[in-house]
Amino acid sequence: MIDCDKAKGQLYEYLDGELTPRKIWEIFGHLTECRRCFSLFEFEYLLKQILRKWGSKYQVSRRFQNKIQMVLSGE
Ligand SMILES: [Zn+2]
Repeated sequence: MIDCDKAKGQLYEYLDGELTPRKIWEIFGHLTECRRCFSLFEFEYLLKQILRKWGSKYQVSRRFQNKIQMVLSGE
């Protein structure tokens, strides 16, 4: 079983689409056991989707993206 820090690190790779199915399985294994990481995952996943959607449609500004990045990297 992987711990929170590892799950969090792999989460970013997952969101970037750089994980192998085995690693994804590891993360989901952790998410089913850990509420904290689960809500983090939901939040980041939604945010990523929103950015992807808006980014191409409305040309999200650099400043806004930086702000999101700050929120994500903070605790
Ligand atoms: Zn966790």
